[in-house]
Amino acid sequence: MISLRLKVDPLPIDEPLVVRLQGPGSPARSDHDAVLAEIAPDRREYDLNGFSFGVYGISSEVIDGDVLMMLPGETTAHRLIRAGSAHNTLLVTEQCDQLCVMCSQPPKKYHTDLFEQFTLAASLAPQGAMIGVSGGEPLLHKERLFSMLEDVNAQRPDIGFHILTNAQHFSRADLERLQRLDYERVLWGVPLYSSMPETHDQLVGKPGAFASLEQGLSILMRAGASLELRTVVMQQNWQDLPALADYVSTRLSFLTVWAIMQLERIGYARMNWKETFRDTSGDFEQIARAVDIATARGLKAALYNFPLCSVPPAYQDFAPSTISDWKRKYLDFCLNCRAKETCGGFFQWYSQAEGFAFLGPL
Ligand code: SF4
Repeated sequence: MISLRLKVDPLPIDEPLVVRLQGPGSPARSDHDAVLAEIAPDRREYDLNGFSFGVYGISSEVIDGDVLMMLPGETTAHRLIRAGSAHNTLLVTEQCDQLCVMCSQPPKKYHTDLFEQFTLAASLAPQGAMIGVSGGEPLLHKERLFSMLEDVNAQRPDIGFHILTNAQHFSRADLERLQRLDYERVLWGVPLYSSMPETHDQLVGKPGAFASLEQGLSILMRAGASLELRTVVMQQNWQDLPALADYVSTRLSFLTVWAIMQLERIGYARMNWKETFRDTSGDFEQIARAVDIATARGLKAALYNFPLCSVPPAYQDFAPSTISDWKRKYLDFCLNCRAKETCGGFFQWYSQAEGFAFLGPL
């Protein structure tokens, strides 16, 4: 598993520090660049404006260009941006106003505000990077979030963001700011689990969520924003998928993509796995109908987090590799599969004992 934390020397700092690691061949471009000064077997020493610190247990080639955040008193650094990866996500808050039965990141009560550090990290990312923003619910800190997007855009218009939000905290007052964001560089990923308000509200643990979400989506539509609608397949919404396809294709036809997603077995999803996970490897019928309805009406549908061999051949083109590199694994039988290059495999925390019944190399 790729590590998102690195052991470092403790630094004499009072505030979080964000630095970009640079090889000796790449001259420092800003005060935030630390340049590789010395290589020992298990330690890389970097120079940051005259003081040095060590990074342990990883080769300098692997971390060249990475952006780290070090916190006072800590001996591990957060690898906020991995220069060689397309899967970088900033967890901007752990607070949330929903309690979804399938939540992979259960919410916490308190918020540590690191938007300033995240803004700097994003502005140090490689050219053209697309950075994920998730939570918790990022829009609980809407002003800070908008400021981050605007500040990064002012310095680095090449950087894009993919923001996961329940979209319930937009108001008409946000229209102007939303319209100013580059719709080609900002994609809003918004969950909708059912066309029936009561089912959606029950799944997200919040009465009135569906109604607030409809309002939020209408604001995104009026702003001309890019929308990735996200529906996790569960036992609870299985029967409703065709009706949801009908709702999505008639009411939300402005969307960029409708992502139908498999469950990630962690957090509340792991706790509620038996009542929630739907094995789609043996019965794909409702998903097939939903995809057919959406595509027949000109919408782009996609299947996220599905092992390719769990999907009938006619729908495999809808299933790109979507599981982030740092949390992806393959099983023993994948070794002989000719589709391994294009298949996204499984989450690290997937358990075959409780998972798909019908899988095997293609
Ligand atoms: S056998 Fe493994 S690599 Fe091949 S399609 Fe299935 S999950 Fe993917």
